[in-house]
Amino acid sequence: MSSRTPHAEVVGAGIGGLTAAAALARRGWSVTVHEREDTVRAFGSGIYLWSNGLGVLGDLGVRERTVEGAHHGPSIQTRDRRNRTLARLPTNGPGQVQVLTVLRERLISALVAAATDAGAEIVTGSAAHAVDPRGAIVLDGGERRAADLVVVADGVGSRLRDGLGLLGRRRRLGQRCARVLIPRDTDLLPAADADHYIEWMSGRRFLLYTPSSVTDAYIALVCPAGDREAMGAEIPRPVWERAFPHAASIVSRIGPVARWDEFEWVELRSWSTGRVAVLGDAAHAQPPYLGQGGGCAMMAAHGLAHAMSCGAGTPAERLARWERTERPLIRHTQRFSYGIGRLNDVPELPRRLLLSTLGRSRSFGRSRLRAAQAVPTGLPRASGR
Ligand SMILES: Cc1cc2nc3c(=O)[nH]c(=O)nc-3n(C[C@H](O)[C@H](O)[C@H](O)COP(=O)(O)OP(=O)(O)OC[C@H]3O[C@@H](n4cnc5c(N)ncnc54)[C@H](O)[C@@H]3O)c2cc1C
Repeated sequence: MSSRTPHAEVVGAGIGGLTAAAALARRGWSVTVHEREDTVRAFGSGIYLWSNGLGVLGDLGVRERTVEGAHHGPSIQTRDRRNRTLARLPTNGPGQVQVLTVLRERLISALVAAATDAGAEIVTGSAAHAVDPRGAIVLDGGERRAADLVVVADGVGSRLRDGLGLLGRRRRLGQRCARVLIPRDTDLLPAADADHYIEWMSGRRFLLYTPSSVTDAYIALVCPAGDREAMGAEIPRPVWERAFPHAASIVSRIGPVARWDEFEWVELRSWSTGRVAVLGDAAHAQPPYLGQGGGCAMMAAHGLAHAMSCGAGTPAERLARWERTERPLIRHTQRFSYGIGRLNDVPELPRRLLLSTLGRSRSFGRSRLRAAQAVPTGLPRASGR
C-alpha cells in the first residue's frame, strides 16, 4: 500500500460486510458500505455467537454492547420426538465452550456502531450492479466508484459474485426453514428445560428452541423443501404439534411466518480476483446446524482486514494469503454442518444410535467445535475466548 489512506468499497451491510467495514476502518482505511435496502436490517430473529465471533466483536470494541442482555444457555440438547435426549453439549461452564444467543438486531446494530464509530460511511438505498476486478464498483444509477479494495458481501444470491465468474458450486440443500420470535412465557417449557438450547428431531422435521433475551425465544422450524403439509404463511399448527408433542406450547405461540428460506451451499473457485474479495454467504454459505455462518463471515471479514493491513505484499498476494489462511477452517465448518444436516434424513432408530455414538466421540466433539473455538486471525489467544 502507498502512504495515502487506502479506500475500500463494501457491498452489503449484513454481518460480513459490516464486520469488514469496521475492521478495515479501525486499521486506517477509508470505507464506504453500500446497502441496497432503505435501512440496515436484520432478518432471522436470534443468533448463536460462539468464541470466534465474540473474539471479532471484542476486537471491534462492541462485544459488551452486543452481549448485554444475551442468553447464556447451560447446554445444547438434541432430543427425539419422545423427548429423549440423544446428545448433550454442556456450554458456558468452566472449561466448556462459550456460546450465547442474542437478537439479530442487537448484533447488527452493534456492527453498525463499530463501523461508523471507526469512520466508515454506510449508504442505504444504494445497490451495486457490477464490479471491476481492477478496483471499482458500479452502482445501479451508473456511478462508478474506484477503490483499492472491493468487498463483495451481498449474501447467498450474490449477483456480483456471479458476474465475476467466481462461483464454483451453489446447491440448494432441500430443507426449508422458518424463523420467528415468541415471548418466553413461563409455561413454555418445564422450568428445568427453559434455559437450555433444545433441538427436537421428528422424522425429517426439526424444531429449535433458543432463548435469546430475557423476554424472547427464537424458534426455527425446518422441514424438507417438498413437505408442503408443514409450510405456509400461517404454520399448520396441528402438523407441528403432532410432530413435536413436547413442544406443543411453543408451536401454539407461533404467529405468521415471513418466509421459508431454503438452506444453501456456496463454494467459490477463488475468494478473490484482482482487487475484489468475496466473503460471507456470497462465498461460503452453509446450512445452519453449527450456528456458524455468521461466525465464519466475521472471521473471514476480520481476517481480510488483517491481511490487507499487516505484513508485506501486493494486493493480489495479500488476498491470496487471506484465502489460504481463512478458507480451510471455513471449508471444514461448511462440510461438518452439511453432514449434521443430513441426519434429518436418517430414520429415527439408526439416528438415535448414531447420535449417541457420536456424542461420546471426543474427535467428533473437537471437529464440531473447531470454528466455534478458533481464535480469529491476528488476535492474541486469550481474547478469542
Ligand atoms: C435458519 C438460519 C439460522 C442461522 N443461525 C445462525 C447462527 O445461529 N449463528 C451464525 O453465526 N450464523 C447463523 N446463520 C447464518 C448467518 O445468518 C449468515 O451466514 C449471515 O447472515 C451471512 O451474512 P452476510 O453478510 O454474508 O449476508 P446477508 O446477511 O445476506 O447480507 C447481505 C446484504 O447485502 C445486501 N445486498 C444484496 N445485494 C446487494 C447489492 N447488489 N448492492 C448492495 N447491497 C446488496 C442485502 O440487502 C443484505 O443486507 C443462520 C442462517 C440461517 C438460514
